[in-house]
Amino acid sequence: MTFEIALQSVKARMDAACQAGGRTRSSVQLLAVSKTFPADAVAQMAALGQRDFGENYIQEGVDKISALADLGLVWHCIGPVQGNKTRLVAEHFDWVHSVDRLKIAQRLSDQRPGHLAPLNVCIQVNIDGGAAKAGVVPHEALALASAVAALPGLRLRGLMTIPEPAPDFAAALAVHRAAKDLFDDLRTSGLDIDTLSMGMSADLEAAIQAGSTMVRVGSALFGGRA
Ligand SMILES: *Cc1c(COP(=O)(O)O)cnc(C)c1O
Repeated sequence: MTFEIALQSVKARMDAACQAGGRTRSSVQLLAVSKTFPADAVAQMAALGQRDFGENYIQEGVDKISALADLGLVWHCIGPVQGNKTRLVAEHFDWVHSVDRLKIAQRLSDQRPGHLAPLNVCIQVNIDGGAAKAGVVPHEALALASAVAALPGLRLRGLMTIPEPAPDFAAALAVHRAAKDLFDDLRTSGLDIDTLSMGMSADLEAAIQAGSTMVRVGSALFGGRA
């Protein structure tokens, strides 16, 4: 499948899910997850009009960001951030979706260069309680989000989830709805947030119906990963 057809088909899925969920199409953004694919593949997708790209592995992402600096793309770090990688993230990325500890957030804020806009941040929430999983437990999300919102080098944007694969659509919808409820609770508590990053190639329809504002799609766009 060519990238053009893959991109059209993902967008058609997003259109249909927005219709089914009574959402306006402009309320959901597509983040193209380019991890493991070369800069050339990103450039091809960018030529088709895609602007936002997500990377899991920080050094790999930084290499592509540098190679494609002329294209003016928006880069999102969606993978785990260790303390020794915060400087690279703060200096090169536009967004990080995977903040789940205040210490990491403080380092990112301190290390964000003054000439750049604040780094956009989502708090990763372990929404389905996987024991070994990254992310804060839901009842800690408000405290962490509030602390992140106060950091000068960061701009709190919302929440991110990576639920386990669900057995069927109804189960996927239930998990995504739990994330949407938490997101709404945080807004009700006064946090100025606009981004709910959830849904991937396999479950973007359920995520959009539940209220996702940004789906992170890799394999359905770029093909399978080794
Ligand atoms: C790899 C990855 C994705 C994309 O997954 P696909 O199933 O290939 O669409 C989305 N989010 C995160 C955090 C990922 O690591």
